[in-house]
Amino acid sequence: MSATAMKLVVVGAAGRMGQTLIRAIHAMEGVELFAAVEREQSPFVGRDAGEIAGLGPIGVPVSDRPLEAFVEAEGVLDFTAPAATVEFAALAAQARIVHVIGTTGCAAEDDARIAAAARHARIVKSGNMSLGVNLLGVLAETAARALGPADWDIEVLEMHHRHKVDAPSGTALLLGEAAAKGRGIALGDNSVRVRDGHTGPRPQGTIGFATLRGGSVIGEHSVLLAGEGETVTLSHSATDRSIFARGAVRAALWARDRKPGLYSMLDVLGLN
Ligand code: NAD
Repeated sequence: MSATAMKLVVVGAAGRMGQTLIRAIHAMEGVELFAAVEREQSPFVGRDAGEIAGLGPIGVPVSDRPLEAFVEAEGVLDFTAPAATVEFAALAAQARIVHVIGTTGCAAEDDARIAAAARHARIVKSGNMSLGVNLLGVLAETAARALGPADWDIEVLEMHHRHKVDAPSGTALLLGEAAAKGRGIALGDNSVRVRDGHTGPRPQGTIGFATLRGGSVIGEHSVLLAGEGETVTLSHSATDRSIFARGAVRAALWARDRKPGLYSMLDVLGLN
């Protein structure tokens, strides 16, 4: 373990998660905010990152030049958007630094480009950086393995704030993947993402998703295993975004001394 504080860059610094990450880095041992980056033309470029995050001035102005920041840093925390994340993955690989990706809604081709970057960079990517949700994934996998498809149906329910742009949430998909793993099936071939109109009866062995949006809800997730006469519900409530930010910082510190590769929060938390 290195004795010096790990120099971190927050990209998407003015976003909901960006601000939370800046506050988490400020409060945690072993890390320092080296730079803060926003998109070109953002009104926040040039402003002090601490002021944006509600900490007061900390002497780190928001920049729109990621590569300049990355080459001098040791890690980047990225909760932005898929197109930006794919670009940051290439730049982080070029700079040989740790890239922690919390961005959700990546398409298969985005994930392929991120995996390519992981040949040179240490990347930790997860649809949810909290300890509780990753543990819930392990529980969902165990439950899905124990309660077979002939008698038990699996549904994943989620609710988020009205500003969220992708659905189902990255966390719902993470939980669906965990349940599919428990069943020994591929989620892509067995998921039901939407129901509308005369759908006919529920196809056996599928994993269903239901999405709710509204208000300021940070993240509610349930995995329901419904059998004849009984239902098992595994659920998680996020009441503060700092759980994701602290998890992301923990992931960066964990990846600091690893080999290049694509890791998940299960690796970081020792749950794999
Ligand atoms: P947000 O819209 O509040 O913030 C995103 C920020 O990224 C914005 O400030 C935007 O200007 C910035 N951005 C976009 N493109 C950029 C670029 N090219 N360069 C620099 N900055 C850029 O969104 P949010 O609520 O903070 O969520 C961000 C992402 O994180 C979403 O995909 C969300 O689903 C995900 N998220 C993941 C977790 C997790 O634990 N994995 C938790 C919460 C949110």
